[in-house]
Amino acid sequence: MTGGGRWRVLKSRTVKVRLIKELRFEAAHRLPRVPEGHKCARLHGHSFKVELAIEGSVNPDTGFLIDYSRIEELWQPLHDQLDHNYLNDVPGLENPTSEVLAHWLWQHVKPTLPELTRVIVHETCDARCEYEGL
Ligand SMILES: [Zn+2]
Repeated sequence: MTGGGRWRVLKSRTVKVRLIKELRFEAAHRLPRVPEGHKCARLHGHSFKVELAIEGSVNPDTGFLIDYSRIEELWQPLHDQLDHNYLNDVPGLENPTSEVLAHWLWQHVKPTLPELTRVIVHETCDARCEYEGL
């Protein structure tokens, strides 16, 4: 089969995919609502990893669902707001748990990226929160 033949196969049906873009930032926080003596009440930092999942149909003309660079563009102002900052000072993140942060990111990304289906916030290597807009 030639390359053109494979392309015709792609164009003949809807191809649905999920893209995942990994993004990172470093930030400090403390959790003000944990019980007294909880270690997370103390000021500390994380190397956060965020995954944004986007789902939809591949455009048969471009072969893309979305250009990853579009995600990087919309991420930049959020990165500027979060990276090397104290999350508790960011409006909406006064209690910056992973759960609150995942919801906050959803609210800031979804309006400009309606294909967004999931936000995952990795607070540590083995602990993460997933949010799907419910
Ligand atoms: Zn923490």
